[in-house]
Amino acid sequence: MCSLRQATEIAVSVTNLVKRYKKGTEANRGIDFIAQKGEVIAILGPNGAGKTTFLRQLTTELKPTSGKIEVFGVDVINEPQKAKLLMGISPQESGFFETLTVKQHLELFGKLKGLSKAESQLQTAELLKALDLKNETRKLVGQLSGGQRRRILIGLALLGNPPLLVLDEPTSGLDPASRRLVWNVLKKVNDEGATVIVSTHYMEEAERLCDRVAFINNGQIVASGTVAELRAMFPSRYRIHYTFGQETAEMPQTLFFDTFGEVENFIKLREPTEYQIATSTLEDVYFSLVGQDLNGNGEGESLKK
Ligand code: ADP
Repeated sequence: MCSLRQATEIAVSVTNLVKRYKKGTEANRGIDFIAQKGEVIAILGPNGAGKTTFLRQLTTELKPTSGKIEVFGVDVINEPQKAKLLMGISPQESGFFETLTVKQHLELFGKLKGLSKAESQLQTAELLKALDLKNETRKLVGQLSGGQRRRILIGLALLGNPPLLVLDEPTSGLDPASRRLVWNVLKKVNDEGATVIVSTHYMEEAERLCDRVAFINNGQIVASGTVAELRAMFPSRYRIHYTFGQETAEMPQTLFFDTFGEVENFIKLREPTEYQIATSTLEDVYFSLVGQDLNGNGEGESLKK
């Protein structure tokens, strides 16, 4: 999934997308975005950055204030029904038919997506296996745990093999084993040709599994590219968190250096009481661009000159 592929067809094209909610919050402030067919793209940003608003407009659930969205050339705003047929959607929250069994639920959605009864049953059986829900097959959806329900949501999105998957935080709340399982399933459908757009705040997940990452902050995409391209925007290799240990617990400060020698010099000169040194990560690139980490901690000022 991390390979750079020779993509030619545009799966999703978003131009100057603006969403202003009724009370005035401008949740998306002029987003331009392209997904090539066959790419896996992570939309990464802290809570409130505008990820869900962005994805809900892609999936026709929310009408943009202005801007243009196309999915495989179909205008999402003017032809929402046609666009929706091209997508498998896993929203962050969703209503379920609580009194159906897991199997009944998936088979029903398969039929709603236009699959024949036999095809719906076949795909349901395959998805229950792939998503490790076989033991839950006959349980009522209303009796399942949060993690199991999230995996059902992903199954519902995958039914019918849509060419585009739009998944809002699909691994949120899953334990590490379930997260790996979900990514294996996504890798398989991507290998078969599906384009995947996924929001996450798990930096490591984005870093390891996506062809491209788009950083979103305050309603705008502040940077996008392959992990290597993003890293190159902020080449400092070492990060130091430090405090001077005054009476009360102060927030650690953060600095970046290109060489370990510079870190050593800093420690010698400033003598912080406590410090941690690490090699910098994609999260540090995000921090350097927006001055905050993915939990919203920080001054909110870019460190990049
Ligand atoms: P994220 O998914 O990155 O957490 P959201 O798109 O949910 O971000 O939210 C972006 C901003 O829009 C936030 O300030 C949020 O409070 C606001 N917002 C989200 N949904 C609504 C809504 N239905 N009405 C008004 N404001 C909203």
